[in-house]
Amino acid sequence: MEYITHSPEETEALGAEYARSLRLGDVVAFSGDLGAGKTAFTRGVLRGLGYKGRVTSPTFAIANEYDTPAGRVAHFDLYRILDSEALIEIGFDEYLGGDRIVLIEWSENAADILPDSYKTVHISYGNAENDRAVTIGEVSA
Ligand code: ADP
Ligand code: MG
Repeated sequence: MEYITHSPEETEALGAEYARSLRLGDVVAFSGDLGAGKTAFTRGVLRGLGYKGRVTSPTFAIANEYDTPAGRVAHFDLYRILDSEALIEIGFDEYLGGDRIVLIEWSENAADILPDSYKTVHISYGNAENDRAVTIGEVSA
């Protein structure tokens, strides 16, 4: 499924709508260039799950965890994590298949240790400055 958005607010709204399809245990692998809108979409997902607080990029923290009315959400940004050994060291695999929703920016860097089935969100730049193409899919075993 591909959607075009024209502003960060529209991308957030799409994320909020997408959140309704998520269940605890789901893993969402995001891809797309820096500044594409992965964090904006994630912010929308958390809003959609009923989270009221601030949602910031975990680039420097690597992971943020949120307690939402729909359950616990782990948000990873793996931009600076380049191998799966480093990921295993931070306990990444313990988040998967559990009772959380797991949202992963720069999931390319976790390709080796993603579960067999997961959801995908790819965001790319469009023609106009604030246009983005959001492609929603899934990988199943
Ligand atoms: P990423 O996490 O992919 O690096 P961010 O969500 O942090 O990207 O940032 C997206 C940037 O692009 C923000 O500065 C936002 O204001 C801007 N932007 C412009 N148009 C859009 C759009 N349609 N959707 C999402 N972000 C947009
Ligand atoms: Mg980001």
